[in-house]
Amino acid sequence: MKIGILAIQGDYDAHAKMLERLGVPYAFVRTPADLAGLSGIILPGGESTTHLKVMTEEGLFEALKKFASNGGAFFGTCAGAILLAHEVHRPSQASLDLLDISVLRNGYGRQLASEVHSAPTKLRDEPFEMVFIRAPIIESVGNGVEVLAEDAGHPVLVRQGRILASTFHPELTGDTAVHEHFLKLARNGS
Ligand code: GLN
Repeated sequence: MKIGILAIQGDYDAHAKMLERLGVPYAFVRTPADLAGLSGIILPGGESTTHLKVMTEEGLFEALKKFASNGGAFFGTCAGAILLAHEVHRPSQASLDLLDISVLRNGYGRQLASEVHSAPTKLRDEPFEMVFIRAPIIESVGNGVEVLAEDAGHPVLVRQGRILASTFHPELTGDTAVHEHFLKLARNGS
């Protein structure tokens, strides 16, 4: 199994280090051709507007939608979660619409400093360390969406079929649990 990492801008390298740790082969994705042979793709944190602009210019927007309809798994962190959402607010912008959630960009304010919280998840008994950086707030989730973790009254880790999204950055901690969960989805489907 090989996993792609969208490598336009942002912290894609931290995801690569995570996959290296887990011994999973990966490829950086910058053009539609890079999607060949992948079981899943990670959409990293960064600036979702920049990702959207380059994705559209490179033909990746349509290619990623096709990748999803062919059964490819997705894991979006922060900006990546914004790209996966059904609806994006403040300001509203286009999205891949692969996950039935609505998000509010920079929902916790435009702070530069990160906030680290510890919250429980459905993935295991011990809490998970969650790094939030100019994170979106998930305002609502559709019926088919499973909330795997909440923090401060909002969903922060959600899954719908083979689509997983977090508003925090698990790639910035040493904890591989969320990535392992994604790899399971990529391997077995929902
Ligand atoms: N604030 C960014 C956006 O709206 C996301 C920040 C992040 O990915 N850490 O696109």
